[in-house]
This record gives sequence, C-alpha cells and structure tokens, in this order.
Amino acid sequence: MERIVIKIGTNLLTREDGSLNTDFIEKIAREVKKLFMNKKEALIVTSGAVAAGRGELKIKRTDSETLHEKQALAAVGQSNLMQKYYKAFTLGCGITIAQILLTPHDFENLETLQNTHNSLKLLLSKKVLPIVNENDVTATDELKYMANDRLAAKVSNLIGADSLILLTDVEGLFEEDPHENSKAKLVKSADKRNLKKHFAAAGEASANGHGGMRTKLEAAKISECETFIADGNVRDVLSKIVLKGENPGTVIR
Ligand code: GLU
Repeated sequence: MERIVIKIGTNLLTREDGSLNTDFIEKIAREVKKLFMNKKEALIVTSGAVAAGRGELKIKRTDSETLHEKQALAAVGQSNLMQKYYKAFTLGCGITIAQILLTPHDFENLETLQNTHNSLKLLLSKKVLPIVNENDVTATDELKYMANDRLAAKVSNLIGADSLILLTDVEGLFEEDPHENSKAKLVKSADKRNLKKHFAAAGEASANGHGGMRTKLEAAKISECETFIADGNVRDVLSKIVLKGENPGTVIR
C-alpha cells in the first residue's frame, strides 16, 4: 500500500493572533480522509506545539525566549494541538489518531528505533493515523531540536514511505528568496544529489517555526523517497500530489 508522510509547518497551523487554525486542520482532515478512501496509508508530522503554547498562555514570541521556555510552551501547546486534531480527524472524519513524540535519541538507539518502527507499522496496519512531533520537553540537543522537516525525513525512512510531502505557506522552493525578490522563479523539480545552489539560495528559518527552506532541503537529502514542497493552502493539495500525480510546488527526487 502506498504510504505518505505529510509534514505540516507551524505557519499553517497557527493564526496571526497565535491561536490554532482549526479551519486548516479541518481541511487537512478532509484531505487525509480522501487518501484513506483511496487505500493510501498516511502519517502526519506536526509542528505548532510551541506556537500553540504561546497562544494558550497569551505570550508574545520574543528573540530572548530560552530553550527551556520553548520546551515549557511545547508541553502546554502539544495537548492543545492534539485536541484540535482529535476534533477534526476523529470526531469530524472518523479517523482514529495516535500521538507519537520522538527525540533524535530514538533514532540513534537500535532498541528504541526498533520499538518505534514496530509501533508505527502496527498503527498503520490498523488504519490509525500516527501524528508525530518531536518530544520537545526532553530533547536536549539544541542543534537537532526544532527541526521537524528533518524529523519527517527520518520517519519516512523508518516506515519506508513512498512520498514525503512538506506542507508550508509558500508555493515551493524558489531560485531566490521570494521575500527578497518577488520575481523569484519557482523551482519545479530538483535532483537530491545536486542541491548545492539551492542551499546557497535558501533563506533563514521563519520566525514562528524553525523550518524555512534550508531544513526542507536537508529533509529532501535525508529522505529515501521523493519529497514534495507545497503550499498547504492550495485546494486539494494532497489529492493533487498523491491521487492525480500533479506537482503544485516543487518535487525533489
Ligand atoms: N516541535 C516544534 C513544535 O511543535 C516545531 C519544530 C519545527 O518547527 O520544526 O512547535
């Protein structure tokens, strides 16, 4: 069965005022339901816990926010986030969900890796939708912390996914930073083994999440499957990619 990993960035999941964007979560739930109806298996890697924590506690993001503060915010936000997923996916679309929180350590230790692999495979075989995030509270390595694009690539490899879809709030990968040059051209496809010039052109991470194009390129390099970068707000974006074989953004093979 075709297996798809969908990573959803913080900017898609949160609104300007810091609250969680339930309209977007409901849209994705309907889209995933369509994939299930077409006999596809799916797994979501979600960001948004830290931002949801800020929204819940009505705290504004500042540059002086420490790692510990972000970890505490993630603890508040993660449960809030899962409640919204439960409402949209389970109550709204009849899809059972499971929360999986992973740390980089889980991929380095053979035993935890095996356990994670077995649990995920079992959930997928039971038609449960695993929703993965980094276990932000216990993650200790600041370099690896907060990079769900990379986490999504590792999870894709672990479950042998056929495609990794990185949903973001821009159309895809551009030849130059589109925030700096509005005429920058969209890259429709790129070769995994030849990403040097795209790395050079990639801007820094976005303010809310820790993604940005750099970690998306890293994810494409790590993943053993084709990787799509696409705008999550595009109508039927998942069906377009998975069911119709279209490429609304960028594909990296
Ligand atoms: N794990 C973080 C969160 O849920 C997000 C990491 C990222 O944006 O890459 O807030």
